[in-house]
Amino acid sequence: MRIAHLGLDAIYRAARAIRGLALRRDTYDDERYFPPRDMDPEAQLAYFTAMVAIDHRTGGPLGRPFEAVVGGEAYRGADLLYRLGRMALEEDPGLFSPGRLASMGLDEGRRLMSFGGAHVWDLETRVGLLRDLGRRALDHGSFTAMLDVATVDEFVARLSEARAYEDPVRKKAMLLLKFLTGRGILKVEGEVHIPVDNHLTRIALRLGLVEVQGDVWGRETSRDEDIAIRTAVRDAWGLAARAAGVDPFALDDYLWSFGRSICVRDSPKCGRCPFRDICPAHRAGHYPNEHTHTLTWYY
Ligand code: SF4
Repeated sequence: MRIAHLGLDAIYRAARAIRGLALRRDTYDDERYFPPRDMDPEAQLAYFTAMVAIDHRTGGPLGRPFEAVVGGEAYRGADLLYRLGRMALEEDPGLFSPGRLASMGLDEGRRLMSFGGAHVWDLETRVGLLRDLGRRALDHGSFTAMLDVATVDEFVARLSEARAYEDPVRKKAMLLLKFLTGRGILKVEGEVHIPVDNHLTRIALRLGLVEVQGDVWGRETSRDEDIAIRTAVRDAWGLAARAAGVDPFALDDYLWSFGRSICVRDSPKCGRCPFRDICPAHRAGHYPNEHTHTLTWYY
């Protein structure tokens, strides 16, 4: 039985609102997070592929925040992870090469992913993902050779050789494609999907883009249930992007920031929301959160 269904009327209402947002692609040049453009292209590719490989929930099942003040500026979640990655790259430009990743030790991983009292909750898993990714890149000779592809399908297939990128809903693969195509590092033909994480799921549920049936609330969902829900969310946002005439990756950038700052868990800031007039959750005064699926490295 399908547990997640698309709400087509809600999708087309959301598309009309999205059309008015004038969204544009980012070029991912913020040097707090991303490498400089004059860096060796293989090193840039290695950095993006490695950092996205470990870019999944940073807080963990206990919900401990991953946050720190770095250089006088507060960072949290993925922002902190990429800030630390960027600093590590500056200190040690060879850190993300295939050979170094393949032999990364826990102490090296801890130095990469910790700052002050901020630690990722699953350090061993992330280091394991980096080691595995390094081995896959070594099999090909380099990240450049590994990602020498012409289509989105080939890109996904190549990445799927690595455990970090095996998610059937392709969150990390599409996130990496967003960065690489936005930077102009990679050009591929084919249809892309929105990378679905907690924020995109929560917003889709509140707007009625996806309806979930069955007893999935108040417990850890199974892998299959999670995949079914996120697949529906991916398809719903994909339809909305097409109907709005907006690039799916531009929409993803918008929704990710929106989910972290406006449509947050528990107390959304509906007064500042462009979807307020069409939002069933706001109308009902009931704000569902995303389903619970914490034990994963897929997103
Ligand atoms: S109106 Fe409120 S609940 Fe609805 S999408 Fe906007 S912030 Fe989220």
